[in-house]
Amino acid sequence: MKSTQNYRFFNWARNESCSPKNYFQPETEEELIEIIRSHPQIRVTGTGHSWNKICLTDGALLNFDNFNKVLDLEIPKLQVKVQPGIKLWQLNEFLDKRGLALKNLGSISDQSAAGAISTGTHGTGINYQILGSQIEEFWMIKADGEKLLIHKDQDKELFELAMVNLGCLGIISSVTLNVVPAFNLHDVTTIRNFDEVIDNLDELVAKSDHFKLWWFPHTENVVVYQYRRTQEAINDSRLRQWFMEELVSVNAYRLMLKIGTLNRDWRRNINKTLVQKFITPLNRIEKSFKVFNVPEPPLHREAEWAFDICIAKDLLRDYKKRINASKHRINFLQEIRFTKADDFALSPCYKRDTIWLGAYNADNFGWEDLLADFELIAKQYKGRPHWGKEFRSVGHDYLQSVYPRLNEFNELRQKLDPDKKFSNDFINKVFEN
Ligand SMILES: Cc1cc2nc3c(=O)[nH]c(=O)nc-3n(C[C@H](O)[C@H](O)[C@H](O)COP(=O)(O)OP(=O)(O)OC[C@H]3O[C@@H](n4cnc5c(N)ncnc54)[C@H](O)[C@@H]3O)c2cc1C
Repeated sequence: MKSTQNYRFFNWARNESCSPKNYFQPETEEELIEIIRSHPQIRVTGTGHSWNKICLTDGALLNFDNFNKVLDLEIPKLQVKVQPGIKLWQLNEFLDKRGLALKNLGSISDQSAAGAISTGTHGTGINYQILGSQIEEFWMIKADGEKLLIHKDQDKELFELAMVNLGCLGIISSVTLNVVPAFNLHDVTTIRNFDEVIDNLDELVAKSDHFKLWWFPHTENVVVYQYRRTQEAINDSRLRQWFMEELVSVNAYRLMLKIGTLNRDWRRNINKTLVQKFITPLNRIEKSFKVFNVPEPPLHREAEWAFDICIAKDLLRDYKKRINASKHRINFLQEIRFTKADDFALSPCYKRDTIWLGAYNADNFGWEDLLADFELIAKQYKGRPHWGKEFRSVGHDYLQSVYPRLNEFNELRQKLDPDKKFSNDFINKVFEN
């Protein structure tokens, strides 16, 4: 298959890039197998929505924008089989037209299905696991070009090891997902006092199907999102969504961010204004995927770690105190989400109900200092970094201490890919080889 030469890859945030020797966009499984058999170094990228170096290579880079079809829909079994490159938004639309939906989603649906699965992408809801938990089975093509089917029950051990796979075990060539009848979400969004919310955190988390917080640093308020799953009729207007979400919030936010670059000390007041004026309280019912997904965010940087929910209150109080007392001037929301424990070896939620804390900032200025301080706190609370977001100060030893099955995963990697065809510097750092 012909490759594109001189291709320059950039990730979504444009903080990472590489110049692969060859860039391929296969359309069929035969083409994919041919590429795997004839190239010694391969990485795959879905839509490049990872913030770190996970996709980078100077070997062959593959993208599945042309390998993105729905292959089968079994309505009685509530299962859909897709090629790896399908974007979650394409799948949402396909399912919605047929009265179906994905059970849970993250904040956006721009990622590819295989990309989202491979890094342990998650949404929020303490009774809901990471997105990959919706998989029934997937096909993977190994380094020798042979196909491997991995089913969640019939190959339970292998499935649990290989589901969150960082793209270094083989290449996922199709995925079968369990879906649910379409549902709506009753979204009640309020602005509340940070300390009061943390005092009542356990009850708030338990009471909502999907609960999350956005804290704008240097302020005392927090935006509280409470979503309840319902079949009640939609009552949100398209006009409101266009005006508030596309026009006002997206543009006002971008304008505020620009103003905040003129003088970083203004950011405290800008954050206050954002919370008070532009994130208005909401009480609406809308289709699930429209509520799970947020309006298009501006380019920004993200680190997000997963912690045992037992330490949630201490962590959040400590984080707020340290950030407000620090020299950092943060101009983006800090996100707090919750997911249920699982058994997937490289899942950040492995065996523990999880609180996620995300440190985000919209410009690069000051980001490295914020990241360093965030990681100090995150390590102190024994956090596990999100595989698709930025982390710097942790290598194999720390990762092994918080991901107890890391070495077991590495043994599988050595078995399936003995010549490290699917590795790069990022993967080698994680496994120290
Ligand atoms: C604006 C924004 C919002 C986000 N929101 C969330 C969120 O709400 N929750 C969350 O958890 N994360 C979130 N993320 C992170 C994002 O979901 C992950 O980084 C995800 O992996 C990106 O998917 P992708 O298709 O872009 O994959 P890429 O970033 O391109 O690749 C990620 C990994 O998947 C592997 N991969 C891709 N395709 C295959 C394949 N066919 N076989 C094997 N491996 C493969 C790649 O090799 C790589 O290791 C967000 C990112 C952005 C930029």
